[in-house]
Amino acid sequence: MDCCICLEPMSGRPPNVVVATCCGNTYHRKCLNHSLQHKLSCPLCRREIPKTKEQSLAYIRTHAKNNKPWALCLTGLYYLNGWAGLQKSKYLAEAFLERGISLGHPDHFMIADAKCELAGLLRFHDITEERKRRASILMHEAAAAGVAQAKEILDRNYMEISRDGTETPIF
Ligand SMILES: [Zn+2]
Ligand SMILES: [Zn+2]
Repeated sequence: MDCCICLEPMSGRPPNVVVATCCGNTYHRKCLNHSLQHKLSCPLCRREIPKTKEQSLAYIRTHAKNNKPWALCLTGLYYLNGWAGLQKSKYLAEAFLERGISLGHPDHFMIADAKCELAGLLRFHDITEERKRRASILMHEAAAAGVAQAKEILDRNYMEISRDGTETPIF
């Protein structure tokens, strides 16, 4: 999972924060910002960078309809965060992330990052033992794929304490 501009690995940790264009390509923020100073288009597909999140969402939606994994994952993030005026929905966020992950390539940074987001949803919403287990697997996969946020969450080793005082790792 290297940045297509500098060919260095992406992890998401500052100063190598990763950003996605609405066409689903991921870059280091610093590399993309540098590139955008010359031309306001995606360095890979040459598509013009939309001016607003609403324009981005419209573009993403056309690709989500065609089951493009990156577009499904991005749609999930839009619902999770309530971007572009969307009403926040954990259910829709989860459904889109699930579908994007199931269709996407595990080495794609956006798919790995989506696993980290989905793990959070599974672990803290509508909790069941099965969802807890799945969340843990997804978080470890995301960390193994190099997602810094997932690594940090695992490093912090959050514990859940039950009534009888036993502690179990959250992820
Ligand atoms: Zn780069
Ligand atoms: Zn592009």
